Amino acid sequence: MSDCVCCGHELPSGCISCAGCGSPNYFLIAQGLMQDESIKQTYWDTARLAGWMRDGLACVYCGKDMLDSYDVTYHGYATDHLLPVNQYKELDSQGWNRVLTCRACNSFKQDWNPNDPPLYTPGGQPGVAVRSELLNRAKEFVRQKRQAREALFQREQQAIQRAFKSLKAGLAAAAK
Ligand SMILES: [Zn+2]
Ligand SMILES: [Zn+2]
Repeated sequence: MSDCVCCGHELPSGCISCAGCGSPNYFLIAQGLMQDESIKQTYWDTARLAGWMRDGLACVYCGKDMLDSYDVTYHGYATDHLLPVNQYKELDSQGWNRVLTCRACNSFKQDWNPNDPPLYTPGGQPGVAVRSELLNRAKEFVRQKRQAREALFQREQQAIQRAFKSLKAGLAAAAK
């Protein structure tokens, strides 16, 4: 028995797709993949693999391919709680509430709560439409945070690169 990672609906073991939302049973798919010799002896586990499959192996907020490279993406992957656990403690391990993100998006999102105005009633299953609306709200919030931070980064980048270049030029001139 597991819960659908797309809508929260309870899935009887072995069922191929969710009766609640029609999505494939990602948990079952991941279980099968975990039997694969090339995945078996790795750091993966069924629940994480199920979430990554559902999220298309990409950050749910910015779309970055999280298996693109070890250093830049995979090493910095994070699991974000769509509804923050400081307000929804019971949703800590719920597959539908755990989403794949890159490190930057995870830090932009933090404990922000997309359930305001409320769509999801605590204790229930969100259903696929509510979950996707919560995701859209979070995506827009993260997009704005990212935009502001990237603008600041561009200023930092230019100023520091310029300063470093003139420092090197000064040192080179002094050494002559
Ligand atoms: Zn479902
Ligand atoms: Zn991202």
